[in-house]
Amino acid sequence: MARGSGQCCDDDPAVHRGPPREGGRRVTDAFDLSADRLCVGTVGPVGSRLFLIQCRQAETLLTLKIEKQQVSAMGDLLARVVKDQERPGHLPDDQALEEPAEPVWVVGTIGVSFDESEDRVVLVIEELVPEGEVGAIARVSITREQAAAFTIQATRLIESGRPPCPLCGSPLDPSGHECPRTNGRRPPAV
Ligand SMILES: [Zn+2]
Repeated sequence: MARGSGQCCDDDPAVHRGPPREGGRRVTDAFDLSADRLCVGTVGPVGSRLFLIQCRQAETLLTLKIEKQQVSAMGDLLARVVKDQERPGHLPDDQALEEPAEPVWVVGTIGVSFDESEDRVVLVIEELVPEGEVGAIARVSITREQAAAFTIQATRLIESGRPPCPLCGSPLDPSGHECPRTNGRRPPAV
C-alpha cells in the first residue's frame, strides 16, 4: 500500500484534504455518523497486518487505520460500557470489512461514552496528527449490540486460539459464540 510509506507525492496532506477553514478544522474531515455497521479487521499478510476500523452509515463509508493496541483498548472500553448497561439483543452477524478498505486517516485517540437518552454508545475518534495541528474527528454512535459485537470481534482478531469472551468470559470458539451476556440464540444462563 503506497499511502503511509511517505514516498509518494500524493502523501502531501494538502492534496488530500483541501484548504483548512476557520479554526483549522476541515469540513470534509468532520464526521458525525449514526452507524449502520461498525467493524474491525485486517488487510495484508500475517506479520505485517494493517488493522482497520470501518463504519458505515447509508452511503458513507469511513475506514480508519488503527494500531493493534488501540483495537484492544477500544474493545476493553466498549466491553465495560456494554456490561454496565442493559443486556444487548441479538448481535449483528456480518462483521467483515467492506471494499474499498482504504483508510482515510490514522486513529489518534478514542473516547467512549454512553448516551442514556438515546441508548447509544458514542465513540469520539480523533486523527493522529503532529502536535499543534488540528486533525479530523469522527463522532460515531452505535447500538449496544454493535458495541458487543465489536468487542468480541476485536478479541478474536487480537488473541489467538480460544480467548475468553470479553463479555461473559467463556472461550470464543472459532465456529461461533452465542454469548450468554446477550440475548442471542442461546438462552441466557441463569
Ligand atoms: Zn460471551
